[in-house]
Amino acid sequence: MRVALGLLLAVSTLAAQDAKDTAEAHIAAAKAGAGDDFQNLFQFQCYGPGPAGPRPAARAGAQRAPVGGQRAGGPGRQGPPDRSTWYAEPVRVFDNLYFFGQSEYAVWAITTSEGIIVLDTIFDYSVEEEVAGGMKKLGLDPTMIKYAIVSHPHPDHDGGAKFLQDHYGTRVVMSAADWDVLDKRTTGTKPKRDVEATDGQKLTLGDITVTLYITPGHTPGTISTVFPVKDNGTPHLAALWGGVGLNRDPESVQTYIRSAQRFSGIVRQAGADIILANHTDWDRSKINLPMLARPTTGSPNPYIVGNTKVLGFLKVAEECATARVMEVN
Ligand SMILES: [Zn+2]
Repeated sequence: MRVALGLLLAVSTLAAQDAKDTAEAHIAAAKAGAGDDFQNLFQFQCYGPGPAGPRPAARAGAQRAPVGGQRAGGPGRQGPPDRSTWYAEPVRVFDNLYFFGQSEYAVWAITTSEGIIVLDTIFDYSVEEEVAGGMKKLGLDPTMIKYAIVSHPHPDHDGGAKFLQDHYGTRVVMSAADWDVLDKRTTGTKPKRDVEATDGQKLTLGDITVTLYITPGHTPGTISTVFPVKDNGTPHLAALWGGVGLNRDPESVQTYIRSAQRFSGIVRQAGADIILANHTDWDRSKINLPMLARPTTGSPNPYIVGNTKVLGFLKVAEECATARVMEVN
């Protein structure tokens, strides 16, 4: 009898969980994860372009964020966009981390004792001015860019890689699965196939080691990274989620969910207290970079948010993806 009652309780508990396991519940969990800090990410990831387009519940007047690179290098475009629409000033963010991106897209540069590692390379039309020009502006030497870790093969992240390869002999790092994608792409400026990253690989240059994780979902082999930074000499740990947007097919969204869960476990255990993205709208760069460009004495670095908020960011990615899968099925 006790066994039967226990079984009954277990079954009814399951039923209660099922009743709560709705897309709405996952969207609510995503919103909670976003907190005050990552509402733009939440809006994009839960209400952005998808199989059914924007959800009816989307915030009135919510801005549709631009989608990866598909729009920007896409067919029908004639020549690069006007500089006034994309140029952004370079910013030193930590002792050994700089921003050399454009207004919407990031290039993070890690300086080491043996040269520079860049994370993503923006577009072919902006790399020279933003990355090479930005480095010169801040007293760095772009010929010292030894590695470009390209998170995934979309033109807003890989378009500048060929320039770095051709001019500075930069080694371009991407996952094998994403090199395969790039090899098949027939449009846009492409780097020559080079270093294939593996999951958990440690890339060391001088005194800095960047750990690479293959986190498929946005693309078949998206790279996310974890690396140390120093803020006025104090060590911190940064995590960069390499691909945010969701695809249309449920299978890749399922893969995305597993990657987000796995990367969350990694950054929880590592104690990462900084979360970065490669789009400036999603990691508060549009707010943080202007603050850092005009520092007020004694103000803390706004990128240091603590492990809970880092996990909150990844929760948004995961929970919106879960809601997406439930709506499609
Ligand atoms: Zn992308």
